[in-house]
Amino acid sequence: MLTSNPSCADDYDPNSLTLGQALERIAQQLYPIDGIEQVPIRSALQRVTAVPLLSPRNVPPHDYSMMDGYALNGDDLPRTAPAVLKIVGTSLAGRPCLTVLGKGECVRIFTGAVLPTGTDTVVMQEHVEVQGENIRIAPGHQVGQHVCLVGTDFQTGQLVLPAGKYLQAADLGLLASLGIAEVQVKPKLQVSFLTTGDELCSLGQLPKPGQIYDSNRYILYGLLSQPSLNLQDRGVVADDPQAIENALLQAAAHSDVIISSGGVSVGDADYVIEVLQRLGKVNFWKIAIKPGRPLTFGTLGKAVFFGLPGNPVAIINTFYQLVQPALSCLLGVPLTEPVRFKVTCVSDLRKRPGRLEFQRGILRQEQGQWVVSSAGLQSSGVLSSMSRANCFIVLDQDWGNVPAGSEVWVQLL
Ligand code: AMP
Ligand code: MG
Repeated sequence: MLTSNPSCADDYDPNSLTLGQALERIAQQLYPIDGIEQVPIRSALQRVTAVPLLSPRNVPPHDYSMMDGYALNGDDLPRTAPAVLKIVGTSLAGRPCLTVLGKGECVRIFTGAVLPTGTDTVVMQEHVEVQGENIRIAPGHQVGQHVCLVGTDFQTGQLVLPAGKYLQAADLGLLASLGIAEVQVKPKLQVSFLTTGDELCSLGQLPKPGQIYDSNRYILYGLLSQPSLNLQDRGVVADDPQAIENALLQAAAHSDVIISSGGVSVGDADYVIEVLQRLGKVNFWKIAIKPGRPLTFGTLGKAVFFGLPGNPVAIINTFYQLVQPALSCLLGVPLTEPVRFKVTCVSDLRKRPGRLEFQRGILRQEQGQWVVSSAGLQSSGVLSSMSRANCFIVLDQDWGNVPAGSEVWVQLL
């Protein structure tokens, strides 16, 4: 059965926000940071455009041939019987032919070469018969064929890139094609991250009895290593209200964004919400998603604060679903729906109704069909299945257990 009624054994919590409501709040409250930085385009990869960019010129700057062949005036194309045209010059890429053509004349032309004045059509070399100084062409060609016209890609003054776009490799090429060497981007966000927990032991130290290594700081480092972010690793903070207060205040003085892990449940040693309520503003702390229900979003001074849960997989999920969209908002990138699509699930999945659940999945082809299977144990402390996964299987809030053979949504990692 895909659905079941709410019961006391399920995960429904009337005080939780849905993921959509949480994203709405984030979008309403976060404005793009101020400032513009001008950088060489090589340094602009994955940075965000700060202003709309208009084309300073036509691209291509001239009509050019897309084939090796002969450039001619379309009026000289034969209609019924073959025609003979005289070759009066050669146009090579980067070496235009300056001859002005008369009636019944053509020019030898190569791919990328400028179309000489008086020509508008190219006939491929395979479609002509060379007879000394002349070529013979049969009917069946079209005026304008094999020619890329001036301004086909961009015309002077046309919008090339909107503000709020992450620049991709193609964008760098596009800017270069316009002769633009530097581009105006949003400043990098200053992002501080820290982990909380008396049980955490940093790499290089010997774990005391009951301690575990701090994996979340490395997960956060990996998730946050982005060209638009400047990272400050603020280490491990003890489960102590004063230590947390000190760490958060220091981070707030130097950051646009603070991300912490752990200490946001309602256990005795979970002080993050309490400290934030006292020093800043808590906007929400429970979302009906799994993993990742206890999650704090608020502000501290001028910094935006995310208190992520301590479980490593919950960090990864809440990062993808909420933190990354928030970072994009702060950089001025409009929020878009995550890309999800439906495939058949070939595993039985266990689920209780009540929360939108993100299970770790492996998407692969089976006899020509894309299917998804469970990546293994789904406990939010288990990183091995997260490491194997290449997607999340997204299961609706109201769904219960999912039998193999069901259609499910997947979201690529
Ligand atoms: P908490 O949210 O602080 O109650 O932590 C929830 C679970 O995640 C506990 O089992 C913690 O030991 C574990 N945990 C918290 N922080 C980390 C961390 N930085 N690295 C690995 N596990 C963690
Ligand atoms: Mg803890």
